[in-house]
Amino acid sequence: MPVKAYDLTGRTAFVTGAAGGIGRATALLLAEAGATVHCADLDARGLHETAALAETRGGTALAHPLDVTDRARLRLAVESCGQLDVMAAIAGIMHSSPVLETSDEDLDRVLNVNFKGVLHACREAARLMLAHGTKGSIVTMASGAVDTGAAGLLCYGAAKAAVVQLTRTLATEMGPHGIRVNAVAPGWIRTPMTDRHDAGEQTHTEALMARMAPLGRVGEPDDVAHAVLYLASDASSFTTGQILRPNGGVAMP
Ligand code: NAD
Repeated sequence: MPVKAYDLTGRTAFVTGAAGGIGRATALLLAEAGATVHCADLDARGLHETAALAETRGGTALAHPLDVTDRARLRLAVESCGQLDVMAAIAGIMHSSPVLETSDEDLDRVLNVNFKGVLHACREAARLMLAHGTKGSIVTMASGAVDTGAAGLLCYGAAKAAVVQLTRTLATEMGPHGIRVNAVAPGWIRTPMTDRHDAGEQTHTEALMARMAPLGRVGEPDDVAHAVLYLASDASSFTTGQILRPNGGVAMP
């Protein structure tokens, strides 16, 4: 029996990036907590797998294959929820290149997905929540990259820093309507994204990150999903404009 403050029975959630990694783990956990979960991603096959997994766990998830940079398509999908309690804007891409080798096209692509995609999702969610007078929760996905400089992470870090600024700004504007907006900034989490990143590296970042963390390991997608569930649920009803860092205790400057 779930603790009541974490119970999402009767609520509706929308999760972007739900075909894999952190987004899938989040969609499954929100569904297990009782929410009807609308799942959006580019990867239609992965989305249908997420929906099937949710069903085997006794939950309900619906698939919306779409690109989060397609604002009109995203709006239609969010509006199809009818009424919305939770938005988890998780879809994102990794990009790494030295500043001097970064093209304007790289920058545009990463900002489009990792910042504007999150902005579109948050905006559509806030509009729908306002229209129905829903005291909802919006959760964005930032990164530990916002706390420190890291070689190669200009585009990725800039987009995630913009996500933090969006989160704080929207929290201030939506607070009077009872809508909360918070960010999650994970450390290194073992997902298809980090597996791909490490595959091209000579020094395996995962092992380095595990050594840096006081808890002595890297994260799993469920570690982040639980942070999102906390922020999505009534358990965090007095928390807004915050950045929650599931990172194994890595000290940030
Ligand atoms: P992942 O690559 O495993 O999953 C990302 C999902 O987003 C994929 O299913 C992908 O298809 C989807 N996606 C990408 N571009 C999209 C688009 N334009 N429209 C719709 N869907 C799109 O990555 P992950 O590690 O699970 O990362 C999820 C989020 O968490 C990202 O925003 C990432 O930046 C962030 N994050 C990850 C880590 C980590 O260590 N894995 C750490 C900090 C932050």
